[in-house]
Amino acid sequence: MEKSESKKQRQVNLVVEPIQRKETDAFFVVQDPQPLENKEVYPWQQKYIGQLPRITKEFFRCNGNPLNPILKVESESSQVTYQMDCGGMERHSLPVRQGEEFIYPILIDLLNAVQEKTGKRVIITSGHLCPTHNTYVDPAKKNRVSKHLMGAEVDFYVEGMEYDPHSVVTALEEFYHEDTEFQSLKKNGNIWSNKEIVISCHSATERRNGDNKHSYPYLTIELRYDRYNRKPVHFSWHLGYNAFHRNG
Ligand SMILES: [Zn+2]
Repeated sequence: MEKSESKKQRQVNLVVEPIQRKETDAFFVVQDPQPLENKEVYPWQQKYIGQLPRITKEFFRCNGNPLNPILKVESESSQVTYQMDCGGMERHSLPVRQGEEFIYPILIDLLNAVQEKTGKRVIITSGHLCPTHNTYVDPAKKNRVSKHLMGAEVDFYVEGMEYDPHSVVTALEEFYHEDTEFQSLKKNGNIWSNKEIVISCHSATERRNGDNKHSYPYLTIELRYDRYNRKPVHFSWHLGYNAFHRNG
């Protein structure tokens, strides 16, 4: 009895008002696809500058490789230790500041300016070095306070201008001629500097560490002053040795 009642009720519910449509009503009109809006990208979103890929912090990842052989290191006091390389970018991050991977942005801007002014590719040979890889490439005591550990130093050369690093420095000088904030670079031998950076040019035989095994002269830019936070950039043991993530 109850079953037939519910059946009847269902039938009542099933009766629906027919939809009345007038001839002039427009239904299911297929619209032409909307043209994609050509949104302007911010300069820092551009993937290319001219013909060359834009340099980003990705280019600064540590070159460590766990397949590199174990090195025998003899200290000044003839003590022998063995140094393994780090696991590379798969095992650790870039320096981390405020929860994000970080390379001082002016270094990235300067290298992009070099690419833009020369039309040639910048090859970063040494960007961020984690403490393990830093010791691996150069176990000397004075290298322990390298600003590479903090993302505040970079070694590079320019493809096609390998033997002409002084022209690369000219491109950097042009950057500071156009910059309203910092003074032009002052030259002293193979070093150019202002309040913000120090550029050193290493000859083809100088400072050949594990990241710079190539036979070209190369340039190092070391940051002295952080224009965004308006603070000098000094080496910090905490930032260099602790402020990055290790995966496993
Ligand atoms: Zn590393």
